Amino acid sequence: MIYDVIIIGAGPAGLFAAANIKNKKVLIIEKNKTAGKKLLLSGAGQCNYTNNCEINEFFQKYGDKGRFIKTALYNFTNHDSMYFFKEKGLNSIIREDKKVFPNTFKAMDVLNVLIDCVKHTEMLFNTSAERVSYDEIKKVFYVKTDTANFTCRNLIIASGGKSYPNTGATGDGYKFAKSLGHSIVDTKPALTPAYLEDYRFKELSGISFDNIKISLFKNNKKAKEFTGDFLFTHVNISGPVIINNSRYMDAGDILKVNFTSFNEDEFKVYFEKLILSSSKLSIKTALKQLNLPKRFVEKILEIADVDENLSCSLLNKSSRKYLIELLSMHSFKIKKLGDYNVAMSTKGGVSTVEINQKTMESKKIPRLYFAGEVLDYDGDTGGFNIQGAFSTAKLAADQINKA
Ligand SMILES: Cc1cc2nc3c(=O)[nH]c(=O)nc-3n(C[C@H](O)[C@H](O)[C@H](O)COP(=O)(O)OP(=O)(O)OC[C@H]3O[C@@H](n4cnc5c(N)ncnc54)[C@H](O)[C@@H]3O)c2cc1C
Repeated sequence: MIYDVIIIGAGPAGLFAAANIKNKKVLIIEKNKTAGKKLLLSGAGQCNYTNNCEINEFFQKYGDKGRFIKTALYNFTNHDSMYFFKEKGLNSIIREDKKVFPNTFKAMDVLNVLIDCVKHTEMLFNTSAERVSYDEIKKVFYVKTDTANFTCRNLIIASGGKSYPNTGATGDGYKFAKSLGHSIVDTKPALTPAYLEDYRFKELSGISFDNIKISLFKNNKKAKEFTGDFLFTHVNISGPVIINNSRYMDAGDILKVNFTSFNEDEFKVYFEKLILSSSKLSIKTALKQLNLPKRFVEKILEIADVDENLSCSLLNKSSRKYLIELLSMHSFKIKKLGDYNVAMSTKGGVSTVEINQKTMESKKIPRLYFAGEVLDYDGDTGGFNIQGAFSTAKLAADQINKA
């Protein structure tokens, strides 16, 4: 018995591919006892499945992989996702920050729609694909699982990346891709917090800053600059600006954080003027002008070893210089990034150079497809990864339907 299509993985990519394949004999193989284990965790169980930003802005949310995923996103857009669920009776809610959720705020409802779409598809749970191979003469794929062997004409590898391995995403797809002659771009955790050397802000856990600027330095050279919301936690620094850009960070890199609303040069001038004009005030009172969280300012003064009650007129040059630095160019050395157990996505994966971006088909073996996080792309937080899984899966399904 030869299946038209075998899909490895019943996450959003695998399910969505199956939901869109028409009139073919399809088998989904899933190692867990149920589908969509990671999907259920998404958006803290509420499933932020896409984002309402303009499509042109969308591509920028995948770092340098925006170009690769563009065709997929045009072919099945954020609005198409919302329409897909609406048509199936699940309306969406667009939050002020443009994140899109089901209006029930239940990931389970999103999953149930997907499962309902594939109810006529054969699914094997508790079954782990172990090996895949291609027979060039017969033009078929063989999938060996822990229980049996299967044959198919089209194979979709939708087995996810490596993040949250307890959801089943253990990087098996890389092994399959490699065995079929594909290159794997080195993987690392993405969408993850940064742990710092000598972290001094533990007691500021929960304090956040809106839209601040961060510069990333590698080997003393400025590599990138980011803007976004920042958060201190009890063990690391986090928030969208860190999480989304963790894909560019490595241990040993330096982050220079500007906690003020001025650029660095402007701030120097502003600060000196502020101190001069507040000569009769204590430094703590003068710094209220910056509108920064009180506990943060106290911590900065503590680090600078400046008594908060010191009169501004007595603040010496070196303390002024140090305070300027701590407030507008605060240097943090990255000790490590959160590992796969806390990272929400995987950077790297099946090299997109070897994938046709218009079809998600392998350029090496015809009728071999990849969809979702197994591919070397990763999106920002905000619904870009699930949308990426849907869009890449849809392209693969469309191509299979055409054949
Ligand atoms: C905590 C958390 C929250 C997140 N929140 C969001 C969010 O709100 N919005 C967003 O866009 N993204 C979010 N993401 C990311 C998003 O969930 C993933 O990018 C997305 O699930 C990837 O879909 P996928 O189908 O490619 O892979 P997965 O969802 O990982 O699915 C892959 C499936 O393949 C199965 N599998 C793997 N190997 C085998 C094998 N050998 N044999 C059989 N089956 C196999 C796995 O068991 C799994 O079910 C979040 C991720 C995490 C961890």
